[in-house]
Amino acid sequence: MKKHNFNAGPSILPREVIEDTAKAVLDFNGSGLSIMEISHRAKDFQPVVDEAVALFKELLNIPEGNSVLFLGGGASLEFCMIPYNFLEKKAAYLNTGVWAKKAMKEAKAFGEVVEVASSAEATYTYIPKDYEIPADVDYFHITTNNTIYGTEIKEDLNVNVPMIADMSSDIFSRPIDVSKYICIYGGAQKNLAPAGVTFVIVKNDCVGKVSRYIPTMLNYQTHIDGGSMFNTPPVLPIYAALLTLRWIKAQGGVKEMERRAIEKADMLYGEIDRNKLFVGTAKPEDRSRMNICFVMAPEYKELEADFLKFATERGMVGIKGHRSVGGFRASCYNAMPKESVQALIDCMQEFEKLHVK
Ligand SMILES: *Cc1c(COP(=O)(O)O)cnc(C)c1O
Repeated sequence: MKKHNFNAGPSILPREVIEDTAKAVLDFNGSGLSIMEISHRAKDFQPVVDEAVALFKELLNIPEGNSVLFLGGGASLEFCMIPYNFLEKKAAYLNTGVWAKKAMKEAKAFGEVVEVASSAEATYTYIPKDYEIPADVDYFHITTNNTIYGTEIKEDLNVNVPMIADMSSDIFSRPIDVSKYICIYGGAQKNLAPAGVTFVIVKNDCVGKVSRYIPTMLNYQTHIDGGSMFNTPPVLPIYAALLTLRWIKAQGGVKEMERRAIEKADMLYGEIDRNKLFVGTAKPEDRSRMNICFVMAPEYKELEADFLKFATERGMVGIKGHRSVGGFRASCYNAMPKESVQALIDCMQEFEKLHVK
């Protein structure tokens, strides 16, 4: 049976990326060696990093003066590297969920943290909008897509201080104005590559301003100087990331990714809103295009486990909501075909016919 992969992360990748990665595992570029057994300093691998960096810059229209880094440690290590490198006295954070909270927790070890707003009181079902950012903060940190709650900041904010964004789960799903940020980072395993590589876009002249000593591996300058090769980088995930970047370009770039994301999200939210069995959990204007969260309508609450079983039997994978929220979550990243979204919609409609008179 065909599987429709709605996993939240690690998650779906384009089929050809998986196949071409598999080929390189067996024989990298006709070298007779696996990509897993060559030196990262081999003359064949440097072009992989160079092209991946170049495609990042091209696809996201990254201005001069920024570096693109491929590191280890996940977005979670960036939660600590960000304040280590940028927080001298005070930073502002927008609390839109678990990931934002984890980022804030790390920052508190380095200076004063101002939580400018929070939607915790409503289980993070919306993005706070009316708040003031103190003018004297070193930076303002946001999480553009809240993977667990299905809310998303879909446009680059205008703020009066340097902005930093965790874009783990919506990078490459829309054009971004990189000039508004001093740093953008994320784990690659949601929309770009298998787990193991973290991408960081950082404005070069914002690094090196804090007065503290920064351990070598946690200092962005180390990785800027080393071209992500200060130590052994995650070679295989970087190669898969390159293949995904080529795929995005061949499909028409981030504008096309955005068009598809809107199309898929409109289809699924349309069904959630129409179908009597289900209700969406996020405030409509803040609905994520990447992670679409919904629950059973109150009068059908007892059917939750039944629907999960029904959908699973029809090939849907990974639609159970995050354990902290419950219900359902359909993650529709770039590689998710429209046909899979339609298959889920078909399931919802069939299930409705069985249960709504
Ligand atoms: C998954 C996720 C993280 C955590 O990423 P790791 O690479 O596992 O550390 C952080 N932020 C967001 C928005 C995420 O979706």
